[in-house]
Amino acid sequence: MCRHLGWLGAPVAISSLVLDPPQGLRVQAYAPRRQKHGLMNADGWGVGFFDSLSQGGTPRRWRSAAPLWGDSSFASIAPALHTHCMVAAVRSATVGMPLEATATAPFTDGRWLMSHNGVVDRAVLPLTVQAESVCDSAVLAATIFANGLDALGETITAIGAADPGARLNILAANGSRLLATTWGDTLYSLRRDDGVVLASEPYDDDPAWEDVPDRHLVQVDGGGVTVSPLDHKPKGSR
Ligand code: GLN
Repeated sequence: MCRHLGWLGAPVAISSLVLDPPQGLRVQAYAPRRQKHGLMNADGWGVGFFDSLSQGGTPRRWRSAAPLWGDSSFASIAPALHTHCMVAAVRSATVGMPLEATATAPFTDGRWLMSHNGVVDRAVLPLTVQAESVCDSAVLAATIFANGLDALGETITAIGAADPGARLNILAANGSRLLATTWGDTLYSLRRDDGVVLASEPYDDDPAWEDVPDRHLVQVDGGGVTVSPLDHKPKGSR
């Protein structure tokens, strides 16, 4: 499983969210505290953010197949990169998946940035989607993009039904909204004075971090944070 982190709020330095916190993604790459699957996240990293200086807020990405903690170029530049909306991830590759930057989140359709923490059987995903890598997460992201992010909950519930062993923890952003699902792994939210963080695990020991229950959809926008259940099982079913 990977670890991911999203931000929506006032413009902040990317280093302040990813590299500086005592238990941020840089540390989670080698010493995650809440990870249920996999020991560390050394198979690459990616940061995607919306560039508020460009028209329409273009998503920009910096991805690598190397461990985050060793990237001194990124560490040098990250304090100078500011954004109001970001999706970042460190990767622990699933066995059999390619080790390459294009297999590393965040994925994009040009409007949304998306990370997947988990695993899914590609046989349950449509063959027709154009993904940037054969990695399950890239194919899943392409499927979600094709269905539209407004159908994220329905798409995850349907894929979860088709592959009961899947873990489908999604984090997505489009510059004005953050969306996330919990399906088999942890997620926490932190409401700060200047914005909202969603993260696989807390980046510090602030007691304000809130645990999101499993199988839920989280939506963050200018109006705040909403959390709603994903699996509306009919009464009496298991
Ligand atoms: N299955 C994805 C991959 O191989 C994500 C893995 C993960 O969440 N650790 O990259």
